[in-house]
Amino acid sequence: MDAPSRSTTRSPSRRAVSQARFPRPRLVSHRAASWIAPFWLAVFWITVQTTGVVAANEVVQTAVDGKLITVEGRILVEAQDGGLLLEEPSGRQWTLEPQDIVTRTRNDNQFAPITSDELAALMRERLGDGFQIHQTEHYVIAYETSSAFAIWVGSLFERLLRGFDSYWGQRDIELNEPAFPLPVVILGSRARFEQYAEQELGGPPGSIIAYYHLLHNEVVMYDLTESDDPEPRRGSNADRINAVLSRPEAYGLVATIVHEATHQVSYNVGLQQRLADYPMWVNEGMAAFFETPDLRSRTGWRGIGQLNPLRLPQLKQCLLDREADGLVRTLVDDQRFKSGETVLDAYAEAWGLVYYLSRVKRDEFAAYLRDLQGLTPLGVSAADERLELFREHFGQDLEALDREFVRYIQRQR
Ligand SMILES: [Zn+2]
Repeated sequence: MDAPSRSTTRSPSRRAVSQARFPRPRLVSHRAASWIAPFWLAVFWITVQTTGVVAANEVVQTAVDGKLITVEGRILVEAQDGGLLLEEPSGRQWTLEPQDIVTRTRNDNQFAPITSDELAALMRERLGDGFQIHQTEHYVIAYETSSAFAIWVGSLFERLLRGFDSYWGQRDIELNEPAFPLPVVILGSRARFEQYAEQELGGPPGSIIAYYHLLHNEVVMYDLTESDDPEPRRGSNADRINAVLSRPEAYGLVATIVHEATHQVSYNVGLQQRLADYPMWVNEGMAAFFETPDLRSRTGWRGIGQLNPLRLPQLKQCLLDREADGLVRTLVDDQRFKSGETVLDAYAEAWGLVYYLSRVKRDEFAAYLRDLQGLTPLGVSAADERLELFREHFGQDLEALDREFVRYIQRQR
């Protein structure tokens, strides 16, 4: 990991009193990324333990829906008012406000991530008998559809993970193996997905077809072949699933689950830290950059970094009336990713910026991302600090850079 950048990292010693925020789970999806029911709680954090540090476990009792439950794990962030960010050995994280904490003790257990088999058992217990489990090298997939679809997803995600790792490795960005086995839930139908998502997210999922739950570290989706597949799914195989999902009308569906899986990978291989305050253009631009599916290859991933046929036309359209401060707006204004009117433009701009920087400013972009690797959970980057770091890597004249970016995108076909 690179030395943290002074301009983006809050260390307790540097800023003894720093605002941290305890957000609701972030729902990340290519259509409507936002904090679900966002609320910000200003607290003061005093300690940060980074992942990889072995520590005794904390045991916290908390009330969920009126029931007392016990969670055990390591503390990642502790707020001055007693609020906690706790990580369980499964990789689940809890943001606990002082009033959520009924009791808090410590035991002698050393923190250690659970195994794939242990996660499989936990998911079975939580989800019930309707689900079966498919395990791959890095993923534990609970599914209530055909095993062929679960196998197809496992293979797709493993290839994405390998591709992600080798893409950044070639750019001298050091990544790690996922510390935790990666959970994926596949619901059997759109209706089941809506039911599940509503319960988890506290509201109907709207047009979202998959999401990555930042605190649960879990990708949730449904069987994409169920809606327009007239044949019974029993007996379906990977080739037939590929055939269904290779249809042009399925492109966006597959891109979305790859997008969500990319968020999960990025947070688990150390490119990003969960709950750190990345600019939204980085979060979403990176996920969109990887979302071009590669259904044909069985081993590699040829889609990485290809022109994104969903984002490019949208971006070209919105560049037509580009304002002078268009780039600055993309860099600092996260609200554009949360408002229905601007969300698609914001995602397209984020994709385009990552596409441009990774191709034209390859070394500078890698150095910028290495600096962002130093961000820690629940820190806050002010707009001027974001701009300062961006200028440090890409130069002071943002208007000139923006003109070059616009010309570059307009040339893409
Ligand atoms: Zn996203």
